[in-house]
Amino acid sequence: MFLALVLLVAGAVSFLGWRQSIPAPRVTGTPPRLIGHKATATFVVEAAGGRLARAEVRVLQGGKSVVVARPEGALGRRAEVPATIEAAAAGLKEGGAAIEVWARDDVWRPLRLEDRALASYPVTIDLTPPRLDVVSATSYIAPGGAGLVVFRAGDAVRAGVRVGELAFPSFPVGTGEVPMRLAFFALPYDYAAGTPIAVTAEDEAGNVASRGVPSELLPRKFRHDRIEIKDAFLEAKVPELLPQRPPSQPLIEAFLVINRDLRRQAEEQKRRIGATTADKPMWAGTFEQPRNTKVFSNFAEVRTYVYQGREIDTQVHYGFDLASTKRSPVPAANAGRVAFTGPLTIYGNVVILDHGLGLMTLYAHLSTIAVKVGEAVTKGQELGRTGTTGLAVGDHLHYEVLVSGVSVTPVEWWDTKWIGDRISLPLKAAGLPEIAGAEAREPSTRPAATPPRRRRAR
Ligand SMILES: [Zn+2]
Repeated sequence: MFLALVLLVAGAVSFLGWRQSIPAPRVTGTPPRLIGHKATATFVVEAAGGRLARAEVRVLQGGKSVVVARPEGALGRRAEVPATIEAAAAGLKEGGAAIEVWARDDVWRPLRLEDRALASYPVTIDLTPPRLDVVSATSYIAPGGAGLVVFRAGDAVRAGVRVGELAFPSFPVGTGEVPMRLAFFALPYDYAAGTPIAVTAEDEAGNVASRGVPSELLPRKFRHDRIEIKDAFLEAKVPELLPQRPPSQPLIEAFLVINRDLRRQAEEQKRRIGATTADKPMWAGTFEQPRNTKVFSNFAEVRTYVYQGREIDTQVHYGFDLASTKRSPVPAANAGRVAFTGPLTIYGNVVILDHGLGLMTLYAHLSTIAVKVGEAVTKGQELGRTGTTGLAVGDHLHYEVLVSGVSVTPVEWWDTKWIGDRISLPLKAAGLPEIAGAEAREPSTRPAATPPRRRRAR
């Protein structure tokens, strides 16, 4: 009898002890260190026994406690608790604060667990956008052309230039106490006056500052051209460019797929390759046009395609077409590193050189390629031979200059005076040295490049 009582009491005590020993729910999460005007964080709350009865996220600052998340309904054993912290709505001020996660399970314990924060994270409320000062910029810019901005962006973690929907990254430059950043940007050929061109900077807390780029816009007109599509051309090119074409599809329809979809794919790939640029300049001085070449098509010609007397398509030509003899050597326009080689839809066999800071050059329709991705090349080095691969009529080089994958007119970069006025001057105004890649430090015996003849052969 006595023994049974002892066992019963012992059993009850160990049961109560076990109930009491079930730990409180566990909280995991990695909220941001800095909180701006709006921040989000997700916490996972997991009960060690039973189910969650309550979970709550609070922000504490100066004796004030604001609930920023309290999920409703049954929570189960494990719950994800997303929290959105809106500083103004929560009445938070700049400075130190803490995020706390409170939770309770439904386990009965002889002594109820004290209600307390199960996790606490120190945070800093930062509502001040990064200090953004434009130091210098290219004075005159034009549609289809490039420009550069030098600026200081304080504690920004992301900074660059936006031209409408297009974004251009910036790179740290100089060695001064307050670091500067440099961004090359492009105006698309169809840039509409009034579209904002702005430097933007974002800090770790997500605060954004923006300043207009103080460049003046010059007008620039582009040619229109009509291109007659012949059956012989379709028969020669469609099987190469669209090998998967169903036999029932008329050649001219296949041509439209090539001219629209494949062209767009190439544009997208140019942007992706543009994002792989080096954060240091590798080029120096004027870009060189291959010698003894004739320009027979210009940048941003708007081409209307005509088939059997009917207008069937309109597209824009993003480069210069340069022709000389068949299978001519293709020289690198400037020093750089090979960013891409291989077929690129309508461009045929292509080499893309990265010159750093977003600047690249593209060489298309090649018959052979003589360089490999990653290889460093010097100005004038042979990249391959001209050809007719891709959507090309006759042997020629299709040449483009790209700023973060956006095509700009090569004419500017062939022009020593343009580089002096539009690139070197704003660098000088910012107290920065001229852009001089490894090439420029070697003595050069090369004569100055001549601007292109803009004569049309056709
Ligand atoms: Zn071309």
